[in-house]
Amino acid sequence: MYFSQLIELQGMMERELAALRRALTPPSVPLKCPDDNELASRLSECAVDERLHARCVERIRDLEYALRRIERLDYGLCEACGERIPFPRLLASPAVRLCVDCQQARERESFSPFATGPARRPCAGRFRGGPCGGAAGVGAPGQRVS
Ligand SMILES: [Zn+2]
Repeated sequence: MYFSQLIELQGMMERELAALRRALTPPSVPLKCPDDNELASRLSECAVDERLHARCVERIRDLEYALRRIERLDYGLCEACGERIPFPRLLASPAVRLCVDCQQARERESFSPFATGPARRPCAGRFRGGPCGGAAGVGAPGQRVS
């Protein structure tokens, strides 16, 4: 990566970070409400606000981390294999931490029916013919479904 490309990415991230910090407002919590329907509606809006807020905070952390990596001179290196992440990938997503191969390997791991831990997700029939048989609600091979 050329120095001018690094400066370009740094500028992109700093501008996004500044915009996110300006936009970041704490989720509003309804304290008083005239009726239950109104309260339910406000609580629902509040839940959406909280999710957006959480996503915004997470993105700010990612960008701050990427900017610190520029200072540490290890920005643009894949955190899993240490290889250089190509500039077009960084340009598309400046705070990305993994190269395409490592990202795909991680996604395969998290979709594996044999994976353990919180990253495991059911395939919900998206991968027909895969190890789970491709039917929604079917678990790991050998697992009975009634
Ligand atoms: Zn990698």
